[in-house]
Amino acid sequence: MTDARDIARREVLVRGAWVITQGPLGTIADAAVHLRGGAIVEVGDWTALRAAHPELDVVGDGTGIVAPGFVNTHTHLSEALATGMGSELTLFEWGERIVGPLGAVLTQEDAAEGTALRAVELLLSGVTTVNDMFVHCNPGSHASVGVVDGIERSGLRAVVSFGAEDVADPALPPWAGVDEVLAEQFALERAAAEASARQVQAAVEAAATGAPDAGAPDAGAPDAAGTGLVSFRYGVGTLLGQSDALLAAGVAATREHGWAVHTHLAETREELVVASQRWRERTIDHADTIGLLDGPLIAGHAVWATDRDVQLLAERGTAVAHNPVANMILGSGVCPVPVLRRAGVLVGVATDGAASNDSQDMLQAVKMAALLQKVHHIDPSVIDASTVLRMATIDGARALGLDHLVGSLEPGKRADVVLYQDTVDVSVLHDPEGQLVYGASPRSVAAVFVDGRMLVSDHRCVSVDEAAQIERCRPLVRRIARASALAAEGWSRA
Ligand SMILES: [Zn+2]
Repeated sequence: MTDARDIARREVLVRGAWVITQGPLGTIADAAVHLRGGAIVEVGDWTALRAAHPELDVVGDGTGIVAPGFVNTHTHLSEALATGMGSELTLFEWGERIVGPLGAVLTQEDAAEGTALRAVELLLSGVTTVNDMFVHCNPGSHASVGVVDGIERSGLRAVVSFGAEDVADPALPPWAGVDEVLAEQFALERAAAEASARQVQAAVEAAATGAPDAGAPDAGAPDAAGTGLVSFRYGVGTLLGQSDALLAAGVAATREHGWAVHTHLAETREELVVASQRWRERTIDHADTIGLLDGPLIAGHAVWATDRDVQLLAERGTAVAHNPVANMILGSGVCPVPVLRRAGVLVGVATDGAASNDSQDMLQAVKMAALLQKVHHIDPSVIDASTVLRMATIDGARALGLDHLVGSLEPGKRADVVLYQDTVDVSVLHDPEGQLVYGASPRSVAAVFVDGRMLVSDHRCVSVDEAAQIERCRPLVRRIARASALAAEGWSRA
């Protein structure tokens, strides 16, 4: 079985009719990106780069678009095997009827195999970094830890978190206490650190053997020596889903360990009503009251953020992950993206979970991020393609504190690069940014590099065998449908 860990980093030139850098060079015509040792060493004019490196392999025939990999700032790989159910439910109904029962039966195997399955969809829609929150209520399973295995196999760059919730439906198995929840947080943090350490060690060993292009920490990338691909954030599924004791313990843990946080805030109107009943304040205010906004935090949605909330998020440096497709499927509302951006809040683009979107197609999320604002404001100029691309790349990287590594094509950054080429979708390039946002589909994703490893080649995922992974997941899909009773209740016909 092929695996990202068997794929060597390559030294290549990635060539496009256009290179969208998201860096100081802007978008440049007839250009290329030089990748070596997992890093970007040069970006510039194709003719000059080719003359300087006539011996190098070239990926791209000069007709396509080269761009930084997308940073998907919010998803739930816990929903990897559960797409296509309950799309006519509201968020609260969907959580109670679908996600709760599903989360009670998820295992580490489901997490690992589901993650590898969805990694194919992520990579083939141009994603190179994913910020995951694994949500489950299967105490003692440490199911979230399985994500790390799937991520390592796929070769994606990832931030992993466990979206803990201990105020669950009484029908679901209860957590023994705050300590049991925190134990899984520590287990996931350890698994992420160990994965990163293995990745760094493999790079060092490959360099020691003198293997060509092995991925030695490159002189152009001073951070690379200490950087693996998997990092950890502390997850708070939702504020309402946690007991006050767990919320307090979480804030204390993030302070003690310096953990950044991944949560949801102000996703639906119901959330604000229930929060006001419980705490006499809305969720963003309550997050601030308990100190959750004191450190780095990225929150999914902020659909119902008021002007005052927006000001508070800006003051606290809280970042937002915008999930247009999920917001539309659940009928949650429209995120005030222009208001947030004007106030200085970093807004990334995201798919949200595989079940609340029913897909992990990031190109669709990027297009919808533009279209939703245009139709909501009845103004096509309210947001443009360049802004949406910026949100989906460098702003998302900033929102996750990873912009020193990824988010733009600049010498010294890691080689997370996507080539869009060969299809009708990207054949007419009057405006490369506009064509990428409104025209490109997963069909046009010809090559994807993460940390210099080519994980998609000739439009095919090579780190995860798509057909084989689908077969591995089929029995798991049937098992969770039965074990969760989603089949008996008619939600699943798997
Ligand atoms: Zn979410």
